Amino acid sequence: MPGYELFGAQERKEVNDVLETGILMRYGFDGARNGMWKAKELEAAICEKFGVAHTQLVSSGTAALTAAMAALGIGAGDEVIMPTFTFVASFEAVLSVGAIPVPVDIDETMTLDPKAVAAAITPKTKAVMPVHMCGSMAQLDELKAICDANKIFLLEDACQAIGGTYKGKHLGTIGDAGTFSFDFVKIITCAEGGAVMTNNKEVYHKADQYSDHGHDHMGKDRGADLHPYLGYNFRISELHAAVGLAQVRRLEEFLTLQRRNHAIICDALKGVEGITMRQIPDAAGDTGSFASFFMPTEEMAREAIKALQAEGVAGNFYWYDNNWHYIRKWQHLQSGSWMNRFYDEQKKQVLHYANQAFPVSDAIMGRCISSSISLLWDEAQAKERGAKIAAILKKVIVGAAV
Ligand SMILES: *Cc1c(COP(=O)(O)O)cnc(C)c1O
Repeated sequence: MPGYELFGAQERKEVNDVLETGILMRYGFDGARNGMWKAKELEAAICEKFGVAHTQLVSSGTAALTAAMAALGIGAGDEVIMPTFTFVASFEAVLSVGAIPVPVDIDETMTLDPKAVAAAITPKTKAVMPVHMCGSMAQLDELKAICDANKIFLLEDACQAIGGTYKGKHLGTIGDAGTFSFDFVKIITCAEGGAVMTNNKEVYHKADQYSDHGHDHMGKDRGADLHPYLGYNFRISELHAAVGLAQVRRLEEFLTLQRRNHAIICDALKGVEGITMRQIPDAAGDTGSFASFFMPTEEMAREAIKALQAEGVAGNFYWYDNNWHYIRKWQHLQSGSWMNRFYDEQKKQVLHYANQAFPVSDAIMGRCISSSISLLWDEAQAKERGAKIAAILKKVIVGAAV
């Protein structure tokens, strides 16, 4: 999924524009900045590219989720439903606003099972947070219907799915708010950064204020800004925004290469009897950053990962054993190992939900392998890799049968 692979002259040019002026901050210094407003330009570019009314840039994807939740009014004791398979940032952000992460089972889309979501709704549920994992997407129609019926927010974590679409609309722009991450391994990067996107003007204004100490950004003079709400500092710098601006302009170039190589790998995997591919609610909208599939059994998945490593095929992920992406390994969350003390009631609820058993998710993730797609492979290299992976998987499956 990585835009960093093709970092080049365009990114350097944008950064140099900022270095020429020396104004590294996104606000103020109107005269000295010589007309350079990279963060503003990037926000406008995101609105245009992804078809959303408002974008607020922040310092990371985690900050984007946090600011989005604050802007939606999610806080003390509110429950936020999220998938068992995601990046730890999802629950970190929920905890940071004083809310309770409620993990629920995934299905073979590798994200929220709408039935599990419906079953997890309580009077305290304030939002559902689908995570569009590994470049593909959640079943948004079903999730949106549940949110509408229960009058709760749909907050899309699209950090891993920049450029993906669902029924013609960009991921991250369909819910009440959505977020991107531009960290170093995302589809486009700016080193560290994130975005909150929304079509709701009030949510946008609040995210804007929250990310800059509550500044209302209404006047020309920062010192004279009003502070209608408390905020924090989740600002992005002009240097970071400059890299992001170059990368967002190159998104189609990245996606074209990624989707071509993804199709080549998936084609090769079609020849492997016994595996099944991840379910994709709208295949046309997949970004192609991973080819994800299921082995017949957990044992075979473990065998396959070992064999791929032994044969020197890098970039294959077995999330079930991964410390950062699947609930099974979030012992710090499950044991309440936080640095700052929580309120007793929050602590009790967090631990209650984090310590549930998830046999359905386990059975899916135990068999799942995601093979990452590089922008740097030419067609011949992608074909060679696909054939190699397919041969290894076949050998594991045939070997297990005898
Ligand atoms: C990367 C990521 C985040 C957080 O983004 P950062 O910019 O690294 O803070 C959140 N959610 C998901 C699913 C991610 O992959």
